[in-house]
Amino acid sequence: MDHEPTFAVIGAGMSGIASGVKLQERGYDFTIFEKAATVGGTWRENTYPGIACDVPSHIYSYSFDLNPEWSYLCSPGAEIQEYFERITDKYDLRPQIRFEDPVVSCIWSEDDRRWTVTGASGHSVVVDFVIAATGILHHPSIPTIEGLDTFAGPLFHSARWDHEVELDGKRIGLVGTGSTGVQITGALADVAAELKVFMRTAQWVSPVDQVAYTEEEKQAWRTDADLLREMHESMQQAFNDGFATSVLDGKSDLVSAIAQRCTEYLDTQIADPELRELLRPDYTPACKRLVISHNFYDAVQKPSVTVVPGQIRCIDETGIVDAEGVHHDLDIIVMATGFQVDRFLRPMTVVGRDGVLLDDAWSDRPSAYLSVTVPGFPNLFMLNGPNSPVGNFSLIQTAELQLDYTLGLVDMVAAEQLAVVAPTAEAAEAFEEERVEAAKKTVWATGCRSWYLDDRGIPFAWPFPFDRFRTEMAEARLSDYERV
Ligand code: NAP
Repeated sequence: MDHEPTFAVIGAGMSGIASGVKLQERGYDFTIFEKAATVGGTWRENTYPGIACDVPSHIYSYSFDLNPEWSYLCSPGAEIQEYFERITDKYDLRPQIRFEDPVVSCIWSEDDRRWTVTGASGHSVVVDFVIAATGILHHPSIPTIEGLDTFAGPLFHSARWDHEVELDGKRIGLVGTGSTGVQITGALADVAAELKVFMRTAQWVSPVDQVAYTEEEKQAWRTDADLLREMHESMQQAFNDGFATSVLDGKSDLVSAIAQRCTEYLDTQIADPELRELLRPDYTPACKRLVISHNFYDAVQKPSVTVVPGQIRCIDETGIVDAEGVHHDLDIIVMATGFQVDRFLRPMTVVGRDGVLLDDAWSDRPSAYLSVTVPGFPNLFMLNGPNSPVGNFSLIQTAELQLDYTLGLVDMVAAEQLAVVAPTAEAAEAFEEERVEAAKKTVWATGCRSWYLDDRGIPFAWPFPFDRFRTEMAEARLSDYERV
């Protein structure tokens, strides 16, 4: 390459901020396009009552800037948002971010081997490389339920919380009992006059202690960077050896141990036998994303809370009709119904080689070679994109490893070992074939409905052990890329 590489990063959430830090560290020229007025991605958008990270905060931290200030083992969402804002300021990234300028198109030119990336403002940059840090749990999914539009009161998705709406003393209907719905239940049980939790499928709920860190602990981490790093690494290791490994085999001992722990929790916490059986799941634990909660079982036993099982029949002007045909009068409806997880960069227009649209390349379903690159779309990298380990490893560690891989490939272009970064179609197909076979053996494929499954019912995430991911990301296999 006859010049220093240049970049466009799409999104200033967790992965986009990490990209900015690493690109800045190398002194590269880059622009980050962000659709909103500030950074933070999912932590900016999700502000629902009870929001917290259910992964330990000391894991959910950048390895290059650990945080001694976390207040809890699993800290509240606002604190995580503050962390991302602080990192953005500390590394002085704001001048590189084009806020409120969502990317509308990325167009590849084979002649000069560059991307033209254009925001909604009309501003364009012409760069060598594009890093898509657009997130996965990003586009709300609102199911089609008869009469949904007819409800007269406020109705909103959990990721679009309307803070103008008074909750105190109201009759609230909450649709969905995923990780989000469970956290909202815990927060609203004491606020609402009545909280009706519409639960289509019972969840496996794993208990977690609400550990608040003391001032002494935080002071020790502030003054001893090694202590903080050791804790981060040991927690990460335990997570990767434990939960991340257990999901790779639906019949593993670790899955049985999760079942035992959750069953014991259910049996000892829920006093009413009828409610206990209602909440007992009938599929393998961790098949859906495991719910981790310190207060859901307390909340559902409060007099103000009712769990309504089954498929909702319809919604009308005044409430929800349940599977039995019973009408529940409501003032507010919250849809904690999850996300469309197959969007990634879409709806932006991404045009690769020979004018091929990414939408067409992904017309069956999105996929990416080793979760990062796509044949026909040179010099485009995805962080936490298709086939990433979204359900098993730490998303931050994943993004950091994918960034290392990306920058390793950029180095190969800079050193003229590669003309562009373009995985061969054969390598991508072989990876996908092997991935699908492994995915069929994971716990996610043991027979439940979840956002981990693609349109064929095959889990779309990375189904191999963590060590394989780390090894693959450590150095690109040149033979899988088009050579000069
Ligand atoms: P989700 O896991 O996809 O759950 C959606 C819920 O909505 C499920 O209970 C689902 O029922 C229900 N639902 C969907 N369509 C429905 C319909 N037509 N009628 C009735 N119920 C319907 O979404 P989420 O809870 O927002 O969580 C998404 C992911 O975000 C999580 O899995 C997790 O990875 C992440 N998250 C993380 C945290 C954290 O603390 N780290 C917190 C929140 C979310 P079924 O189960 O029957 O399909």
